[in-house]
Amino acid sequence: LTPNLSGRVAVVTGASSGMGEATARLLAAHGAAVALLARRAGRLEHLAVDIRAAGGTAVAIPVDVTDSDAVKAAAARVQDELGDASIVFNNAGIMLPNPILDHREDEWATQIDVNVRGAVATIGAFVDQLVETATAGKPADLINTSSIAAQNLFPEFAVYSASKAFVAHLSRHLRMELGAKGVRVSDVAPGGVDTELIDHVTHDGVRAHMAASNEARTVLTGQDIAEVVAFLVALPARVNLQEVVVMPTTQA
Ligand code: NDP
Repeated sequence: LTPNLSGRVAVVTGASSGMGEATARLLAAHGAAVALLARRAGRLEHLAVDIRAAGGTAVAIPVDVTDSDAVKAAAARVQDELGDASIVFNNAGIMLPNPILDHREDEWATQIDVNVRGAVATIGAFVDQLVETATAGKPADLINTSSIAAQNLFPEFAVYSASKAFVAHLSRHLRMELGAKGVRVSDVAPGGVDTELIDHVTHDGVRAHMAASNEARTVLTGQDIAEVVAFLVALPARVNLQEVVVMPTTQA
């Protein structure tokens, strides 16, 4: 399957690093015009310059997904500058594992704000554009990033895992609701991927344990996830992979 995404507008949240950055590059290389959303404006601008230098179309839109008005303004900019979104990779997220007895209410709130409220705000801001695209007879895709943590149990990961279980179940519901309108909804649930996600972990013991596990095995790359996203959006419009669990071969 060689994706041809010319004419499609792809919105990628969490585009400033990791799997979002890799996916934005790959979708642009396959011909999509990409809107790059995240907070770090410098990283987004650098990526946009790279994509344009390679012959692609990219717009950097710095936004904090926890600010629903700002996400709506970003959606209006996408519509004005590129046209209605046809792909939304709803991928921004943060992982801050810690023992529940540490009472890190700040980190619980941040994970719920970004992974739950941010994911819903992004869907709310772009869903009308996706439906409009589908109504015009063009392919429309909403792809949410959950995690294997949505199904599995990991010590210290209760709030993160629950936030990703929210995303996974939200995706199942929305697939039913939006599928009837021609919008595909998929949930991508990765295992270990080598990105900046682990850099934000503040609990020394948990961070050291995660770093050691990643050292001890081969983990996925952001590019691996990008290839999966490109595959999903290039399938014939009648085919919707509801949930894709992407594991490193050697991860249990
Ligand atoms: P990264 O930390 O590299 O990427 C996370 C992205 O989310 C960054 O671009 C970051 O940009 C963005 N982001 C974080 N907070 C906000 C915010 N408030 N507003 C806007 N953007 C935000 O990690 P990954 O690429 O690994 O993470 C991508 C997704 O994959 C996440 O949802 C993560 O939970 C999920 N995941 C990751 C796994 C892994 O092993 N790496 C496994 C399973 C799921 P900025 O800081 O510039 O705002």
